Amino acid sequence: MNPQTITSVPPYRRIATEEAWLPPEMAQMYLRAIQDKSIPDPGFQSLWGFFAGSQSERASTLFRRIQDIGDGRVREMDALGTDVQILSLTCPGVQPFDPATGTALAKSTNDQLAETIRRHPTRLDGLAAVAPQDPQAAAKELERAVTKLGLRGLIINSHINGEYLDDQKFWDILAAAEALNVPLYLHPNTPSPQMVEPFLSRGLDAAIYGFACETGLHALRMIVGGVFDRFPKLQVVLGHLGEALPYWLYRIDFMHAGIVRSDRCAGARPLQRKPSEVLRQNFHYTTSGMCWEPAVMYVHKLMGADRLMYAMDYPYQVVPEEVAAMDALPLSAEHKKMFFQTNAERVFGLRTDAG
Ligand code: MN
Repeated sequence: MNPQTITSVPPYRRIATEEAWLPPEMAQMYLRAIQDKSIPDPGFQSLWGFFAGSQSERASTLFRRIQDIGDGRVREMDALGTDVQILSLTCPGVQPFDPATGTALAKSTNDQLAETIRRHPTRLDGLAAVAPQDPQAAAKELERAVTKLGLRGLIINSHINGEYLDDQKFWDILAAAEALNVPLYLHPNTPSPQMVEPFLSRGLDAAIYGFACETGLHALRMIVGGVFDRFPKLQVVLGHLGEALPYWLYRIDFMHAGIVRSDRCAGARPLQRKPSEVLRQNFHYTTSGMCWEPAVMYVHKLMGADRLMYAMDYPYQVVPEEVAAMDALPLSAEHKKMFFQTNAERVFGLRTDAG
């Protein structure tokens, strides 16, 4: 990496909120699943097939970085100017495995994550992995991870073998998150098998665009499907400045009202609040992979200073200059501290005694 060191000490801690890791044994399981095609999802085959088959420096560097959540990770954080990383299991997490395997892997992954956080308590924090393909077990594991291991919420890597969280069979998980008062980070995955095909032939299935289509759709299905009428206190975090939804706010409200009025779709019923109100009151946004001033300022203004948080998306998009660019955002000192530090402390319930 570029060994640029951030020397000036800003009046805030930089907390990066969407930072990925992958336990080595799960990396091996992914690679085996590429070889034996035991995970047939074409999005998975495309994304992890690249990492498994590529000899490129990008692939090998990423593979090394993502499996290291020890001293090597902390050294790179020092060089990048990141004070804290909130770690979460990379996509697709344990979601493609059968329910029993996924549930067992979620537990062992959470135990490992908690252990590494105990070794670096001022630098690392984390979100729980769960296997939503067994919703009741996932709710139980979330409770264990939060109350026994001290993890700060949960990550779900978008579609669950082609299904979405607006399906009521998953609602025990959402009920548990709401009751525990912890956020759900709805992280991207490649588009579901039903929608991935036209992305694949042009290499658009992953972070360039497919992730945002998939994850924005997922969030919108949850909103229109009434999840936030049923769980009005549930808080969801979206990366990548909201997977493009903030840009669509006006039209989503306008068209949703029309769809409901005209009774066009049995699955689009009246909601207690407009979609834009839910997106302002039940969602937070992070800058992962989108540390670009015009877009950051747009979301800051539109969604509110208390709704936007910093994220890098390490190790997928490690651009040392981005930290300096975010330091230079034209925000007041108060809003900049909220952006880098205090919003994340509040949303994730982090310890605030480390500086
Ligand atoms: Mn990410």
